[in-house]
Amino acid sequence: MNPSLTHRMLIIGASDAGISAALRIRELDPRAEVTVVAKDAYPNFSICGLPFYLSGEVADWRELVHRTAEEITEKGIHLLLAHEAISIDPEAKQVSMRAAGGDVRRIGYDKLLIATGAESIKPPVEGLDSPGVFFLRWMADSFAIKRFMDKNQPKRAVVIGGGYIGLEMADALTRKGIAVTLVEFAPEVLTTLDPELGALIRAELESVGVRVITGKAVQRISRDNELQVHNNTGETEAADMVLVAAGARPATDLARSAGIGIGAGNAISVDRTMATQKPGIWSAGDCVQTWHRLLERHVYLPLGTTAHKQGRVAGENMAGGKCEFQGSLGTQAVKVFDRVAARTGLKDQDAADAGFDPLTVPLVTPDHKAYYPGAEQLHIRITGDRSSGRLLGAQMVGHRTSEVSKRIDIFAAALYNKMQIRELCDLDLSYTPPLSSPWDPVQAAAMAWYGSREKQH
Ligand SMILES: Cc1cc2nc3c(=O)[nH]c(=O)nc-3n(C[C@H](O)[C@H](O)[C@H](O)COP(=O)(O)OP(=O)(O)OC[C@H]3O[C@@H](n4cnc5c(N)ncnc54)[C@H](O)[C@@H]3O)c2cc1C
Repeated sequence: MNPSLTHRMLIIGASDAGISAALRIRELDPRAEVTVVAKDAYPNFSICGLPFYLSGEVADWRELVHRTAEEITEKGIHLLLAHEAISIDPEAKQVSMRAAGGDVRRIGYDKLLIATGAESIKPPVEGLDSPGVFFLRWMADSFAIKRFMDKNQPKRAVVIGGGYIGLEMADALTRKGIAVTLVEFAPEVLTTLDPELGALIRAELESVGVRVITGKAVQRISRDNELQVHNNTGETEAADMVLVAAGARPATDLARSAGIGIGAGNAISVDRTMATQKPGIWSAGDCVQTWHRLLERHVYLPLGTTAHKQGRVAGENMAGGKCEFQGSLGTQAVKVFDRVAARTGLKDQDAADAGFDPLTVPLVTPDHKAYYPGAEQLHIRITGDRSSGRLLGAQMVGHRTSEVSKRIDIFAAALYNKMQIRELCDLDLSYTPPLSSPWDPVQAAAMAWYGSREKQH
């Protein structure tokens, strides 16, 4: 790095947030010298695709790359891979790095971005370090799982956690011919949705042979000839492998040790420009707190889409711009075998906690005109504020052909614009019988919400 430059941009983390920031800086400031450091050797890989690599649907892990290292360096971004940032000195504006071989060096910066992402949560379960027990977060995790499966040909797996990663892995392992038992502590899987919709995902899992155990916590994993997974009611599941998918927590050790403030969800505290409280240091992605557009406060809501946007905002501001992250609505979708579950905004209880007067109304309706072959039922739950009529959130479960994720995106766009539920009916949405109805299911759900609210008045 050339110390005579005054635009030395250093980015710690080469995934969604870090690379988005680097690309934006490059677009805006041709004089900037941009260096991106990563502790692993896999810059800009889609870790969201790991379950599909492990299922075999994506044949080669190299296909998961968003951009290759060559494509990144061709943009004038300097990549320093297999270098772990071990400390930041904000006063001297230097970061110490340890290379894979053990050598430590210090690199100076004018502006720094911390984009260190998240780590898998290790729940309080004894025996998590037993051979055959895995987490899934990094490329290296997926290689370890793949090696294990190729070598040992496991027949039975226990997946701990019924969130979206646990569900995707239940799907992936089943596709590999492995008998899967999924254990979830909550009363229903996929707690980001109401239990009525979670139950549909559970039914989908069970229909393909996944055993689903809810309302029980795994306490201990022991290993004799085989793995034994013990839950809190004394039952034991035998397994050849265990996948722990108990959520993610922000990777903040580096920031904490540099005295950078911590905020919501124990994530790095940033404002909406993605600046930390330390001058010259920004942060973005799964390691930071996220502005919630509806709640109008920071929460911890780690998602790939958010990391890309926050990285871009941080990059623009590091390059001298003035922009703000516009906020997340927690919009997400997951495919589980032939079903898709999606959500955006607030659920009933979240809305009540935030001081709204929520009303949630369910609707089951065909995804397109029933006379055209292949119609599937869409289950929609729409939440609005009873008194103002404002849309607050929506949830949906349907067949993978039912455009569930794009339909939830209509709700997300409406939420972004603080629309009334009534206004959804005025939207000029497309219609052709094989794909929709003159009133799209989104609009039918809006009407159902209004009908229900009127009945209550
Ligand atoms: C299995 C799986 C499936 C997912 N599916 C989805 C999905 O479908 N949709 C969705 O929106 N999101 C999904 N996510 C979440 C999404 O992948 C993350 O939100 C996103 O990767 C966050 O990007 P990031 O850049 O903040 O951090 P990360 O992707 O966590 O990357 C962190 C980077 O920091 C580097 N790093 C960390 N510490 C150091 C250090 N000390 N020194 C140097 N480098 C360091 C790492 O090497 C890495 O390059 C999924 C996640 C997983 C694990």
